[in-house]
Amino acid sequence: MRVTFYGTRGSIPVPDPDFVEFGGNTSCILVTFSTGRVAILDAGTGIRKLGNDLLAASHEQYSEMIIGFSHTHWDHIQGFPFFKLANDPRRNITLAICGKGRGSKDLKSVFATQMQFDYFPVPLDKIGAQLTFWQPDLTEFVHPMGIEIVASKHNHPGGAYGYRITEGDKTLVYCTDVEHGDGLDKNVVALSRNADLLIHDAQYTPDELKERKGWGHSSWEQAAEVAERAGAKKLALFHHDPEHSDNFLFEVELKVQKTFPMAFYAREGMTIEL
Ligand SMILES: [Zn+2]
Ligand SMILES: [Zn+2]
Repeated sequence: MRVTFYGTRGSIPVPDPDFVEFGGNTSCILVTFSTGRVAILDAGTGIRKLGNDLLAASHEQYSEMIIGFSHTHWDHIQGFPFFKLANDPRRNITLAICGKGRGSKDLKSVFATQMQFDYFPVPLDKIGAQLTFWQPDLTEFVHPMGIEIVASKHNHPGGAYGYRITEGDKTLVYCTDVEHGDGLDKNVVALSRNADLLIHDAQYTPDELKERKGWGHSSWEQAAEVAERAGAKKLALFHHDPEHSDNFLFEVELKVQKTFPMAFYAREGMTIEL
């Protein structure tokens, strides 16, 4: 399994010169399985380049693909209308949120609203590709691609889902937009158990977190504690605050590595082989 970060930023894109190393695009990750099949996690602004790269790699290979969403806050869906593969009628794209406890939110209506004329010139039903909206009430299942998925809901305004994705003996855990509250969320620790790579929300410093209770995010300290307790092999700190420049993150990264040596801030364009 291979993981490539196309969007690492939280909340809003930051195309400023001081944000080039860690990246300015919002949440989007490409997962490539051993078969060459791919899955995408979240469709923040990073999905624009991701789509261009897939098209450049092979035009035909990616006729079927899945985009799994942690949740549908703006920074996790805003790139979707600019995903070129979605404009191609030969492609079948499944947009999915998996897991129990979802509210009344209908995924199709979220994207249809996003592409109303008030916000975007092309409506959802004219985008081109065949879109399937999939919201299974499942917490553990094997996807037809042969990938084991565990989905777990966590605390975030409106709710969000973490995913444990296993192919063979390799496990990726994607857990962003999570607020632990007092103490760590035990379900997040369980979801992350022995992960080869844990991608965890680390938007704030511990001091910032004290000021931002209820905003739905974690500190780097909490992310490192989850990784430590869960026995994760590597920790990618993710969903960087839009006010945290490269210099700031370089400094904090050194601090985090004293707590959990295999931690790093995810960088846009970075690829990790599991
Ligand atoms: Zn977010
Ligand atoms: Zn969110």
